[in-house]
Amino acid sequence: MKSLEVDKHVNFLVKAATTRGFEWEMTEYLRMSGIYWSLTALDLLGQLDKLPREEMIAYVFSCLHENGGFSPAPNHYPTIIYTLSAIQVLVILKALDQLGEKKEKVIEFVKSLQNTDGSFIGSPDDDEEETDTRFSFCAVATLKLLNSLNAIDLDKTVQHIKACQNFDGAFGVRVGSESHAGQVFCCVGTLALLEKLDIVDQELLGWWLADRQLPCGGLNGRPMKKEDVCYSWWALSSLVMIKKSAWIDHKKLAEFILSAADEEMGGIADRPGDIPDPFHTLFGIAGLSLLQYNNNLELDISSSKENVKLKPIDPVLCLPSYLLHEK
Ligand SMILES: [Zn+2]
Repeated sequence: MKSLEVDKHVNFLVKAATTRGFEWEMTEYLRMSGIYWSLTALDLLGQLDKLPREEMIAYVFSCLHENGGFSPAPNHYPTIIYTLSAIQVLVILKALDQLGEKKEKVIEFVKSLQNTDGSFIGSPDDDEEETDTRFSFCAVATLKLLNSLNAIDLDKTVQHIKACQNFDGAFGVRVGSESHAGQVFCCVGTLALLEKLDIVDQELLGWWLADRQLPCGGLNGRPMKKEDVCYSWWALSSLVMIKKSAWIDHKKLAEFILSAADEEMGGIADRPGDIPDPFHTLFGIAGLSLLQYNNNLELDISSSKENVKLKPIDPVLCLPSYLLHEK
C-alpha cells in the first residue's frame, strides 16, 4: 500500500490556489468552489495556514451580490452552488460573523430559489429554471450553516426528495431521472440535515451503493461506469449517513484512492495515471478521512516519514468536524 504524501499534496494545493496563468483563467467559472476544495483539503491535512486567510475572505466578499447570492468570481452571476461554497469557506476561516446584516440577504436568496413543489432552481439569473436535487442540498446545507433552516418550506423539500427516489432505492436529478451516486449524496444529505432519513428504504439504498465498488476497489457513480476517486466521497459518505459503510471493502478503497495520487507533483486524480486536480484531491482525502485513515484501518504507513493522521470530516457538510462542534 502506498502512503499519503502529505507534503506533496500540500504543495500541489497551494500551487493550484496561488499560481496565476492559463489554468487559473480557465477555471474562473468555478473558482469559489476551488477555494473551498483547497482549504478543506489543507485543513484535513492540518495545514490550513498555508493559504493567506485575509485574502481569501476578501475574495469571498468580492463575489457577494446585491440579491444575497455568491458567484464563483466577481464578474459572474450568483448561484446556490457557489453560495454554499462561499459559506463553507467562511466557516473554515471562522469568518462567518463578518457577514453581519448581509446574512439575512443570503437567507432571502436561498428562499427565493424554492418552487411550490419543494424543488429548487440554481439561480434567478438562469433562464432555463431547471431544478436539480443538487440545488436542494446546497440550499439546505447553506441554511443549516446559517442556523436558518426554517426559512424554507421543509415539508415540501422533503416531499420533493422522496419523489426523486427510484425503484432501485437510489436517487436522480429530478423525479424519474436515472439513479446517480452524486445525486444520492445530495438527497441523502438533505434528508440527514432535516433528520428525515427514516423515509428512505435504507436496505435497498445500501445495496445499490455497495454495488458501486468495483474489483479494483474504487467506486463508480452508476452501473457500467468506470471507477472515479470522487465517488469515494459521494457514495461512501452516503453509506456512512445510513450506517452501512461496512458493506464495502475499506482497505481496497483506501488503496485505490492512494494509487490515484501523483507521486511527483502531489494531488489526486480521478483514477490512476490521470492528471490530478484540487476537486479529486479534496474528495480523495475526504474519503480517506471517512475511512479513518491510519486510525483503525491498520493501513501500512511504514514508508511514511511521519505519522499521518487526517482530521475527522463531517459526512454531510464535507467540513472538518471540529468546526461544526465549535459552532
Ligand atoms: Zn470524479
